[in-house]
Amino acid sequence: MALTLLSIVTSFSRSANREDEDEVVSRFIKYVAKEIVLGPIVKSRGKKRHNQYALTFDDGPDPVYTPKVLSILKNHSAIATFFLMGRKMEMYPECVSAISEAGHEIGCHTMSHRELSGASLNLLEEEVGRFFELFDVTQPMLRPPYGKLGINLLYYTWSRRIPIVLWSLDPKDFRTSTSQLLNFFSESPIKGGDIILLHDKTREIIEVLPRIIDDCHQRELLPVRTSEVIGLRKEEQKKDGCA
Ligand SMILES: [Zn+2]
Repeated sequence: MALTLLSIVTSFSRSANREDEDEVVSRFIKYVAKEIVLGPIVKSRGKKRHNQYALTFDDGPDPVYTPKVLSILKNHSAIATFFLMGRKMEMYPECVSAISEAGHEIGCHTMSHRELSGASLNLLEEEVGRFFELFDVTQPMLRPPYGKLGINLLYYTWSRRIPIVLWSLDPKDFRTSTSQLLNFFSESPIKGGDIILLHDKTREIIEVLPRIIDDCHQRELLPVRTSEVIGLRKEEQKKDGCA
């Protein structure tokens, strides 16, 4: 952080003569907002030096694809985090039970996938507060739909100690072919601390997921709960042979 700060200040002094101070000041403000103000409440990745990463699945549970993902995870002794929608949890409680019983982590992806960047506090209560009233999760975490943030959302989650979890790798799996997905992970290999954004709702992810996990295993990278990757809790009890 200190180095980045130094480089920005140096770049500011160099650019002062070039009359582009506005751009540098804007970069500086964005840096302060991202690294200092938002850092403690918005997490996009964990520490790079760790040999752990997080597989995250949004928009479920899905009665067709969630069981297939769970089966792959089980066969590969892998743990993942499912950012679920409350309305679908009500529709498919058996999927939710299967996720929990396999030792995976559940996070909030709102009740009905409403975009929250301009949400009122009332809407946040309906979409986020209601979720945590209805479902008892071990570690509260929120992934806002589309990764959109807003001032009310930041205040709401900060005041309730709900970390916002975004991602560091997004292969756009729901609109990408199998070969494009494989290319993505070959060109942007998963590293320690990465949080991968996936969706348990396409055939393509079912085809690619085993290869993603195998590739990481070969590089001694382990898929664990998101809360572990971002340091919310230490590695704890493992269930039934899961990593
Ligand atoms: Zn979503």
